Amino acid sequence: MFLSSTAAVQRPSVSQGMSAEGETLVAAWQSLQPSLVEEWGEENHAAWLAPLRVINATAQNLTLGAPTTFLSQWVHTNYLPRLEELLSIQLGQPISITLQVVPNFNHFAAPAPSRPALVPVTGGAQPAAVPAKPVVAAAAPTAEAQPEWLQGSRLDSRYTFDQFITGKSNTFAFTAAQSVAENLAKGTIAYNPFFLHGGVGLGKTHLMQAIGHTLLQSRPNVNVLYLSAEQFLYKFIRALKDKNTLGFKELFRTVDVLMIDDIQFIAGKDATQEEFFHTFNTLMQEGKQIILTADRSPHELANIEDRLKSRLGSGLTVEMHVPDEETRHAILQQKAEVLGVGITPEVLQLLASHIASNVRELEGALNRLVAYARLTGETLTPELAREQLRDLFRVYTRVITIDDIQQKVAAQFNIRVSDMHSPRRAREVARPRQVAMYLAKQLTSKSYPDIGRAFGGRDHTTVIHACETIVSLIPRDAQLAEQIQLVTRTLQGR
Ligand code: ADP
Ligand code: MG
Repeated sequence: MFLSSTAAVQRPSVSQGMSAEGETLVAAWQSLQPSLVEEWGEENHAAWLAPLRVINATAQNLTLGAPTTFLSQWVHTNYLPRLEELLSIQLGQPISITLQVVPNFNHFAAPAPSRPALVPVTGGAQPAAVPAKPVVAAAAPTAEAQPEWLQGSRLDSRYTFDQFITGKSNTFAFTAAQSVAENLAKGTIAYNPFFLHGGVGLGKTHLMQAIGHTLLQSRPNVNVLYLSAEQFLYKFIRALKDKNTLGFKELFRTVDVLMIDDIQFIAGKDATQEEFFHTFNTLMQEGKQIILTADRSPHELANIEDRLKSRLGSGLTVEMHVPDEETRHAILQQKAEVLGVGITPEVLQLLASHIASNVRELEGALNRLVAYARLTGETLTPELAREQLRDLFRVYTRVITIDDIQQKVAAQFNIRVSDMHSPRRAREVARPRQVAMYLAKQLTSKSYPDIGRAFGGRDHTTVIHACETIVSLIPRDAQLAEQIQLVTRTLQGR
C-alpha cells in the first residue's frame, strides 16, 4: 500500500555531489510516485517500483538500483518505457532511465545528505526571475541534526504566483493565497487555517507553494514546513517504528507556517489523524499559520472526526474549479513560453478545447507533444497532436447514454431514477428532470422526440421547453450551473 511505496521514495538517495539538474530529476521521480500508484495500483507499485532506489541522476538520465536481476528485467520490460515517458513529460525533455542491479541491496549504504540538515531556507537569496534550485522548506536549526527522513520537502521553484494564470475558475483562490502570503510577510495572519480544495491538477499545490516562495523572499528566516499528507503519515509511522516520536514533534516545534498538502490521505488513519489534530491544535494555539489542501471541502472529508472537520473549516475555505477554455489557452501559452517552444495557434487551440479536465493533464499533453517533436524532429501540426494525444482526446468521444444521464442526474439531485419517467411535476423532481433532458440533448445525438420518449413518453415540446429553461437558468443560478458541471464531468469520466 501507500506506506511501503512512500517509504521507498523517501529513503535517502545518493545525492552527494549531484548536479542541480540531477536533483531536479530525482525530485521529479519522487513526485511521480503517487501517480504511478494510481496508474498501476498499489500492489504492482509496491512489488516492482517501490523497491527501486535512486543511485544517480544527471540532467537527462536517472540510474535506479534494483535488488535482483529478475526485478530489474521485469521493470525493464514492463515499466521502463512508460516511466521514461512520464519523466520526459514532467520535465519537458527526453529522460532515460538506467537500471542497475545492486548487490547487497539491503545493506546499500545511504550516504550523508548533500545539504546540511535543518538549515533555514534561503529562498529569498535567489533572484526571482532565474529558476531557483529547489529550496528546502525545513525547520530551524537545532543542536542535533535530524535524520533526513525527518526533514521537510522542497518547494518546487516553478510554483510561484507569477507563473500562475488566473481566470474565473481560480481568481478568488489566487487572491486569497496572495493575501495570506502578504499578511505573513508582514508578520500577521489573515485566515487560519487557509484551506484550498478542488479536483486534481487544478493548482492547489502550486498556490500553496507560491505562498511559501513569496514569504521566504521577504523573510528568509521564517520556517516554512511543506509536507504532503503522505509524507506526514510516513514520517509519523516511521517515528513510531524507530521510537523517535520526539524527533517527529521536533519537526513542528519551530515551524512558523505549516503546509500540508492533500490531507484527504490522513482520513481514516486513526493514529495519524490524531497526531495531525494534535499538531494542528498546538500550532493554531501558538498563532502559527496553517495552510491545507484537499480534494474536497472540510465537511465533505470522509472518515474524519467532526471536531477536526469543523476546525479545518474554521478559517478561510476556497474551492478551485476547472479553468474555462480561455484560461486553458492562456495557461498553455505560458507553458509553451517557459518550455521555449513555438507552437502554432491551431495546436494550442486544439489542446485548449479538447483537454478540459485539469491543468496537469493540459500541461502533460503539451510536454508530451513537445518531447515527441524534439525527439523526432517532426513539426507540430494539429494532425500530429491528434495522433499523439489520442488517448487523452478519446475520453470525450466516449458514448454517453440517456440512461447514464438519468442515473447521474438523479444521484446528484438526490431523487430516484424512476422520477425521471414519472408524471410528477413537483419542482424537486421536475427541475432535475429538465436538467437530464438538457444534458441528453447536449451530450447525446438523440432527437427531441427520442429524448421525450426516454423520459416517460413526454412530448418533444416538453423537452424543448426543458432545454430552454435550463439554458436560461445557468447564468443566473450558480449552484445549478455547478451541479450541471459536476454531472457533466462525471459523465465524461473526468
Ligand atoms: P493540484 O495540487 O490541485 O493537484 P497542482 O498545483 O499540482 O494541482 O497543478 C498541476 C500543474 O498545473 C502544476 O504543474 C501547476 O503548475 C499547473 N497549474 C495549475 N493551475 C495553473 C494555473 N492557473 N496557471 C499555471 N499553471 C497552473
Ligand atoms: Mg497537489
